[in-house]
Amino acid sequence: MAPRFNLDGSEIQPLKICMIGAGGFIGSHLCEKLMLETEHSVLAIDVYSDKIQHLLEAGKPWSKRIEFHKINIKHDSRLEGLIKLADLTINLAAICTPADYNTRPLDTIYSNFIDALPVVRYCSDNNKRLIHFSTCEVYGKTIGSFLPRDSPLLRDPAFYVLKEDESPCIFGPIEKQRWSYACAKQLIERLIYAEGAENDLQFTIVRPFNWIGPRMDFIPGVDGPSEGVPRVLACFSTNLLKGEPLKLVDGGKSQRTFIFIKDAIEAVLLMIENPDRANGYIFNVGNPQNEVTVRELALLMTQIYCKVNGGSRPEIPTVDVSSKEFYGEGYDDSDKRIPDMTIIKRQLGWEPKTSLDDLLESTLTYQHKTYAHAVRQVMSRSHAAI
Ligand code: NAD
Ligand code: UDP
Repeated sequence: MAPRFNLDGSEIQPLKICMIGAGGFIGSHLCEKLMLETEHSVLAIDVYSDKIQHLLEAGKPWSKRIEFHKINIKHDSRLEGLIKLADLTINLAAICTPADYNTRPLDTIYSNFIDALPVVRYCSDNNKRLIHFSTCEVYGKTIGSFLPRDSPLLRDPAFYVLKEDESPCIFGPIEKQRWSYACAKQLIERLIYAEGAENDLQFTIVRPFNWIGPRMDFIPGVDGPSEGVPRVLACFSTNLLKGEPLKLVDGGKSQRTFIFIKDAIEAVLLMIENPDRANGYIFNVGNPQNEVTVRELALLMTQIYCKVNGGSRPEIPTVDVSSKEFYGEGYDDSDKRIPDMTIIKRQLGWEPKTSLDDLLESTLTYQHKTYAHAVRQVMSRSHAAI
């Protein structure tokens, strides 16, 4: 491979990266990028490896650079040794599906705070750099969500654009257990920041804003539990694959900005290879251009899926469902999520590229190719059983 240079013109030396949660959606794309385009090696830690199986097969040109360790970080004494062996640790491990936040709040808090604690401590004690994955959900609700609906202030970005070093973290009451995830992520961010301030931990915190693409989550009943509720991309993909209406929670009025996973991974690679520009920073990573309401997302996905599978537009594309019915007691929602991109653009010169239409088309093409046949089989088996 030809030599590669970082943003300051220094030649990039191969790193050993301890990646925890490497078998998940983001981990699988990051491993792919590191194997295909760099000389870095990965100690990949996860309880699952299905999504990186294609990288672990023997005889690949990168086989010597990736090693899978089936480890549950809750209770495994091998973790510190692996962190010590590496130059850099990236922690992606988490329970991070909203359906779990109000139904399994204890698991959510343990996973996002308690289980992340030893990772931070081992990095700090051994002077190892840490890139920790937090979430845009630490912002919670926008200030604008508390204004009257007809307030002219709602048009002022100061009331809704989310800035790493200025915006407050606004969560709902404790009974709204939806916020268990955001609170746990916020506290671990504060702890990492404090380790940086008091013990010189070299850290970078990433706040992803709805990264989506192939291999995200699972299709219930096909490669995940039939009663499972994944994040919105997989929920809507399941509905489209089954030819059923897409469910809009509380009218689908919440707003999100979606970014293509491949754009986002470019940002993470820049963080890995430019420590002097990334250490000590918290980075929003999202695409402010790709904002939609969930209702708009549903209609756009329906339209694009019809193009992908050559079908016609369904008569009833969406149905409304209450959040209590869909997620159970204790659900609440972030109203709007637009990332401010000033810091990441200044430090890493990074900007997202892919439009919402393009990212949905490539993702739905993948979903159709990967799942349409299996979904038809599951549906015909359940019809036969009736
Ligand atoms: P994911 O669920 O696909 O991946 C997480 C991985 O961590 C899974 O493979 C899981 O098996 C592993 N894991 C969890 N607990 C573990 C444990 N105790 N021991 C070993 N492995 C364990 O999720 P993702 O979308 O890839 O997200 C990765 C990170 O990014 C998470 O921290 C999440 O909170 C954060 N994040 C992602 C998004 C997004 O848009 N995808 C948004 C906000 C935050
Ligand atoms: N949502 C929906 N229908 C679904 C799944 C999700 O209307 O089938 C909504 C959900 O209430 C939220 C948005 O879609 O407003 C995004 O949900 P997701 O689970 O992807 O995670 P979030 O962005 O809230 O972290």
